[in-house]
Amino acid sequence: MYTKSKELFERAQQSIPGGVNSPVRAFRSVGGTPVFMKRAQGAYLFDVDGNRYIDYIASWGPMILGHAWEPVVKAIQEYAVFSTSYGAPTELEVEMAELIRSMAPNLDLVRMVSSGTEACMSAIRLARGFTGRNKIIKFEGHYHGHADPFLVKAGSGVATFNIQTVPGVTPGVAQDTLTAAYNDLAGVEQLVAAYPGAIAAIIVEPVAGNMGCILPEPGFLEGLRAICDREGIVFILDEVMTGFRLAPGGAQQRLGIRADLLTYGKVIGGGMPVGAFGGRKDIMQHISPLGNVYQAGTLSGNPIAMIAGYTVLSALKANPGIYTELEEKTIYLRDELDRVFRAWGEPYRINQIGSMISVHFSDHPVRDFSSASGANNELFKLFFHSMLRRGVYLPPSAFESWFLNNALTRTDLDATVRAAEESLAELNG
Ligand code: PMP
Repeated sequence: MYTKSKELFERAQQSIPGGVNSPVRAFRSVGGTPVFMKRAQGAYLFDVDGNRYIDYIASWGPMILGHAWEPVVKAIQEYAVFSTSYGAPTELEVEMAELIRSMAPNLDLVRMVSSGTEACMSAIRLARGFTGRNKIIKFEGHYHGHADPFLVKAGSGVATFNIQTVPGVTPGVAQDTLTAAYNDLAGVEQLVAAYPGAIAAIIVEPVAGNMGCILPEPGFLEGLRAICDREGIVFILDEVMTGFRLAPGGAQQRLGIRADLLTYGKVIGGGMPVGAFGGRKDIMQHISPLGNVYQAGTLSGNPIAMIAGYTVLSALKANPGIYTELEEKTIYLRDELDRVFRAWGEPYRINQIGSMISVHFSDHPVRDFSSASGANNELFKLFFHSMLRRGVYLPPSAFESWFLNNALTRTDLDATVRAAEESLAELNG
């Protein structure tokens, strides 16, 4: 079933560390051979052995309208003959910035970069440059990319591989990253009191997606906002996952929360390497060349990346009904999974908002990193492989959110639920 994938994985490991260009792809924590993909269409992935999968990763978020969506494919093809990169400004970048501003609230100025990591790394530098303070607060199990300041109690692959301290991150850098538990406002208050006038920024995933999908409890984000206002701290919402996914205006719109700085990635690039950071004008004006907080990129605002992102974002803006459809599909999946998991009888929790959803094998509510870690993640591994064998491609870790794409049909969702029912029966057997 996976003959060619196995061959390729062997070969890959001769030339690429662990055979992959991003760690979680290696299936190392779930075991087995990572599936090598050949092509994708709509909601389906096709691997090199000819197997078809219903996709719940969506390239870790970007493919909200499905794979190989024709308008994006055409836009890229049509633009490619002009140039794949100029390193000089284009009208396309102006149009992209205007489109982003028309969708995302509280975004006076926006700078394009090439990944979510770059966006978050730049936002932190900017917050430090703006406030003249050094420390930041982040949350346990949250992932903001692989820049040094974020690799402290991080989620995603860092949590999946249970890496306590990342070698190469200097103690000097790590000591400026303070961590609190997600949904624990009192913990944040304690940090703020312990380091008066020293905290430049609080950065948070408004909906945590790097330890499964975990929702903010009522008052949590509002409480962070109030602390930031009171203490002159820059409030950074990392909307790399939630931006343009939970609503045209992301988590800010969906949850009614206002950020000082915002970071984007994933959906914003329509499947191309794109990120962005932006926000309040008085802060963004400190970015070079307006100010001295330096930030740059050879391929930033790349025209092929911009045309792909622009095509997806403008479709989302023109058809906000897409969000209703996506949410209806996700709620249907949640309720149907709930039905088969309940019949199964072992403890589980399903968290969902918009088109983000995850299952934890847990007998307690999953509301932060310690409750996510306390789930039976061994069981998740078995479930993952059972689903994969039945043609359902879930994230290969319980510390990741699943993402629905709008190419999924009721038939796909029903097939997924059937696969879950069979998988649970297999786990019992
Ligand atoms: N922030 C969040 C919330 C993310 O989920 C991710 C990636 N999963 C990043 C930042 C980093 O983005 P990238 O992988 O594009 O560097």
